[in-house]
Amino acid sequence: MKKTSCIWFLTIAILVAGAASATGKEVVVYSARNEHLIRPIFEAYTAQTGVKVRFLTGKAPVLLQRIKAEGKNSPADLLITVDAGNLWHAANEGILQPIDSATLRANIPAHLRDPNLRWFGLSVRARTIVYSTERVRPAALNTYEELAGSKWKDRLLLRTSKKVYNQSLVAMLISRHGAAKTEEIVSGWVDNLATAPFSNDTKVMQAIAAGQGDIGIVNTYYFGRLQKKEPEIPLALFWPNQNDGGVHVNVSGAGVTAHSRNRQAAIALLEWLSSAEAQKLFAGLNLEYPANPHIKPDPLVDSWGDFKHSPINLTNAGLNQAEAIRLMDRAGYR
Ligand code: FE
Repeated sequence: MKKTSCIWFLTIAILVAGAASATGKEVVVYSARNEHLIRPIFEAYTAQTGVKVRFLTGKAPVLLQRIKAEGKNSPADLLITVDAGNLWHAANEGILQPIDSATLRANIPAHLRDPNLRWFGLSVRARTIVYSTERVRPAALNTYEELAGSKWKDRLLLRTSKKVYNQSLVAMLISRHGAAKTEEIVSGWVDNLATAPFSNDTKVMQAIAAGQGDIGIVNTYYFGRLQKKEPEIPLALFWPNQNDGGVHVNVSGAGVTAHSRNRQAAIALLEWLSSAEAQKLFAGLNLEYPANPHIKPDPLVDSWGDFKHSPINLTNAGLNQAEAIRLMDRAGYR
């Protein structure tokens, strides 16, 4: 353990020991979701229940390693992270425990949670097609697979394959088509690239707006953020595969840690996070879709229209991740 993380660990351990002994009503959350997206939610929870939520934020792999290293002494009760690939890794490393809760089963659809109940999606982001409204007619678009066709030669823009979002997208394509066919699709994408992959989704969209390419693949909330800043930007989202497999969705989600000391309190918080009130906040703050299908999204998000999800369980994003990375490398997707 590095010195800085040692200090962090001690600080938290002390804080937790003090507070928990005083009230017994406390949950400790490690979150890869940014502070500004979670603080208002935890404040609402504390106001309603009196239960304190202590949290620290960090990158998903760092938090995962940290919980592993802390082992039985970990103060963490709940891990929140983004992308099913990361949630799968956490479960696979044994740092999450199964929670069989009627509330969670009712609120979170089966394809958005671990079949073994160790993690639950809390908000949904679609990774979908974005296009220039100046140079592309939506009728010309159809599926992710068709972006490999010659019609899109030198017109496609992608984010780097290093990002877990693209690894999960390709992993889910492997679930649908098998590796050989998926490699053909990804090779076709690479052939169609207008320029080298970008470091983030926003740059992909800005490059399309600037005319560097005509279409790309991005997470919906980045489109929402850009649309809020620049309402006139000549871009729109397209929902692919509506008659053929559905749109690739992913989640941010959470699981109770294997060594949670406040297990009941952690379950109660997780259940609350899946409830109507919390879902609106949790998804709305980041312009995502509530994982609970009974809750309407933010009006801006709603304005993009309804679409069919891929029904394949997101655990496949983790199961096929290593293969997806090797496949993208062979296809020359950097
Ligand atoms: Fe993101």
